[in-house]
Amino acid sequence: MTYDDQNIFAKILRGEIPCKKVHEDIHTLAFEDINPHTPVHTLVIPKGKYVSMTDFAAKASDAELAAFNRAILKVVEIKGLQNSGYRLITNNGLNGGQEVPHLHVHVLGGRPLGPMLTRM
Ligand code: AMP
Repeated sequence: MTYDDQNIFAKILRGEIPCKKVHEDIHTLAFEDINPHTPVHTLVIPKGKYVSMTDFAAKASDAELAAFNRAILKVVEIKGLQNSGYRLITNNGLNGGQEVPHLHVHVLGGRPLGPMLTRM
């Protein structure tokens, strides 16, 4: 899939729309989800133009890959989730239910999160 420069996270990265920043480094930005599902619901995104985890894992540099993982850990620390636990979700593509076509990891926590998925 071609990267869409008009997606909402691209606009956040360009400063065209605001976000509640949680953490930033040269490769990564983390900010609060606008419609939180849980007491902690933070999104971590690479600054590079990657549509999905598929795209990122295949094309990102080692520095970007490392920064992304460390940024997730940084959010976990900032939000104090190390001991209580948390869940990471990355929706990919159509069946994954991805709405915004710029890679993002949801960091969820702050309460028991229940079963991973509802069986259908
Ligand atoms: P996904 O379904 O995995 O693509 O998740 C997209 C997420 O982006 C949803 O949880 C939305 O609430 C969130 N979102 C959409 N627009 C914004 C925004 N402007 N700022 C912060 N989060 C947003």
